[in-house]
Amino acid sequence: MDTHLAYCSACDQEVRIAVKPLPVHGGQANLADDGEIVCLEFGEKCTGQFCPMFGLPSVMMGVRLARSELRSEGWKVVKGLCDGCNQVTEMQLIDRTHAFCTVCHTTNACTIVTAGEDDYILIGRAAPAPTRPAS
Ligand SMILES: [Zn+2]
Repeated sequence: MDTHLAYCSACDQEVRIAVKPLPVHGGQANLADDGEIVCLEFGEKCTGQFCPMFGLPSVMMGVRLARSELRSEGWKVVKGLCDGCNQVTEMQLIDRTHAFCTVCHTTNACTIVTAGEDDYILIGRAAPAPTRPAS
């Protein structure tokens, strides 16, 4: 996979970017979006709501990186009950409210509870988007 260097204003340094080719359906590439950009340096410095380089929600970049499995180190790993596979699994913490299940690749909404030196993770389902009947 190709990686490039790009300057990130949040990190104030150059970061490594990978472009993950999207799966091609029916032999036709989607011209509007020729790949999924993944920042390999996603981490504690990504405190803003949006990634300054790509304008994506920071958590989305974190989920992309976790899902891509391009980086196995640098994650804070906690154990929690996954909403996707209903097992207690090791989860990579994307931020304080999102955890990525390394078994089934579900992104769980979570709450971190710190007790002494250990972090505990409580998983809650992501609230469904509110819908209103058209009136
Ligand atoms: Zn899971």
